[in-house]
Amino acid sequence: MTDSVYDVIIVGAGPAGLAAALYSSRDRFKTLVLEKFTPGGQIATTNRIENYPGIIQIDGPGLIEQMRKQVQSFGAEIKSGCEASKLEKLPDRNIAVYCDEDKFAAKTVILAPGSSYRKLGIPGEEDLRGAGVSYCGTCDAPFFTGKHVVTVGGGNTALQETLHLTKYARKVTLIHRRDQFRATKVLVEELKRKAGEPNSSLIIKYSTVATAIKGRGEVQSVGLKDVKTGREQDYPCDGLFVFAGMEPNTSFLKGFVELTEKGFVKCDCAYLRTTVPGVFVAGDCRIGAAMQLATAVGDGVVAAMMLKEYLREPSWWNEPVSDMLAPGQW
Ligand SMILES: Cc1cc2nc3c(=O)[nH]c(=O)nc-3n(C[C@H](O)[C@H](O)[C@H](O)COP(=O)(O)OP(=O)(O)OC[C@H]3O[C@@H](n4cnc5c(N)ncnc54)[C@H](O)[C@@H]3O)c2cc1C
Repeated sequence: MTDSVYDVIIVGAGPAGLAAALYSSRDRFKTLVLEKFTPGGQIATTNRIENYPGIIQIDGPGLIEQMRKQVQSFGAEIKSGCEASKLEKLPDRNIAVYCDEDKFAAKTVILAPGSSYRKLGIPGEEDLRGAGVSYCGTCDAPFFTGKHVVTVGGGNTALQETLHLTKYARKVTLIHRRDQFRATKVLVEELKRKAGEPNSSLIIKYSTVATAIKGRGEVQSVGLKDVKTGREQDYPCDGLFVFAGMEPNTSFLKGFVELTEKGFVKCDCAYLRTTVPGVFVAGDCRIGAAMQLATAVGDGVVAAMMLKEYLREPSWWNEPVSDMLAPGQW
């Protein structure tokens, strides 16, 4: 165990973790950020952000680079390649965070490990991952220039990424298991407009699921099934992009903090207190997260503000949210 006790250890250097680190280090709290890979999180995989207030357009890596520099300029320590594997409450009320052979201790912890891509779980998916099967159009679209790709999904990411892929691929077939999309209206309209253009490279197949991915060393076709008629076909293509949602990266927290059935961290959603005193949560891994860059950043800020209350007076942890009125009273 390292000798020094940090005021706060932040697990995850995505937007939530970096925002928390900015506030805590600027408040002169001794701050350590543990990151499994390198700072960035999901947003580092996108090349176009248009909905971060005050910035008309920026790429993910560019934004993260600014955040990282800003955080480090206030003295926060960032340890990359450091995956938190276990947390434990110590007898002196501090919290230990284990990372490979290392053990760090802090008075408070902010959990910000975000989420990961959900898999389809069909034959061929694992074998052909990286050989035509992808979960990130923004990262991999240029590899499919002039090719035919199938995309799977019906949410915002699926539609955004499908539209992005049409700039590179010769043909894009979007399959969706339902007969309408759950993405925002503006995106659905853009997608339908694109598919309706003369000689469009975009095809939409509703009520269709992928049953298998086939090919040796590269994707050659995808098994498709019409869920209404039951008709199956082998659909030739060069790649499959899965946009099936996210899973919280919280398996290492099982048995330490309370999680929902789907693995999201339970918290009070106002002060972001978890079920363990001194441990806050921020970003996409928490219950009720809006899964957005701006909200992840907002969470990081709230958690870093609230840890001051706990450090000042630990009994604050059990106080109800102040000024909170019962429904119907506001
Ligand atoms: C392709 C794509 C495009 C997007 N575009 C937009 C957009 O335009 N606008 C928008 O608002 N949102 C967008 N989002 C969503 C946005 O990126 C997320 O909501 C945001 O990144 C969530 O931030 P986070 O910090 O909570 O989690 P994450 O970004 O997931 O970061 C979590 C970090 O924690 C690390 N980590 C995980 N487990 C551990 C562990 N055990 N120990 C140490 N570190 C760990 C991860 O490696 C990661 O770096 C997009 C997402 C994707 C995937």
